[in-house]
Amino acid sequence: MAHTGGCLCGAVRFTIDAEPQGARFCWCRDCQRIASGMATVNVLFDEEAVTYSGEMTLLRLVADSGNTVERGFCKVCGAQMFSRTVVGPKQPMRVRAGTLDDPEICPPSMIIWGASAPSWAPFPPGMPVLEAGPNSAPMASKA
Ligand SMILES: [Zn+2]
Ligand SMILES: [Zn+2]
Repeated sequence: MAHTGGCLCGAVRFTIDAEPQGARFCWCRDCQRIASGMATVNVLFDEEAVTYSGEMTLLRLVADSGNTVERGFCKVCGAQMFSRTVVGPKQPMRVRAGTLDDPEICPPSMIIWGASAPSWAPFPPGMPVLEAGPNSAPMASKA
């Protein structure tokens, strides 16, 4: 069964013909800037399985990881849709959980870039927190 979703105004829609590979919070500084001060919540999918329709602004920046990351935003409402690594180790596409028609399909189970989060960041109790990117060390003090 395909998963579907879209932006706030409906100009961008997407279909995903694969099951999620996991989901996580990202507290990197770039995500805080686009997510109003919170983490982004990202559901991971094989990039080839995700098909978007509608016009997006695509922004490519070097992330805290050193990888070049592309982010897609609806050209009309500005909603952030996804991020994907375009230069760096291959990683799944990160679809923003809030854009899924059914945000229940894959609850987050991990926090990345925990060391970049502000002191008031609400970390769910017991959830693993990594200092930096997906393969970094656990952050024992905040877990
Ligand atoms: Zn929109
Ligand atoms: Zn991030």
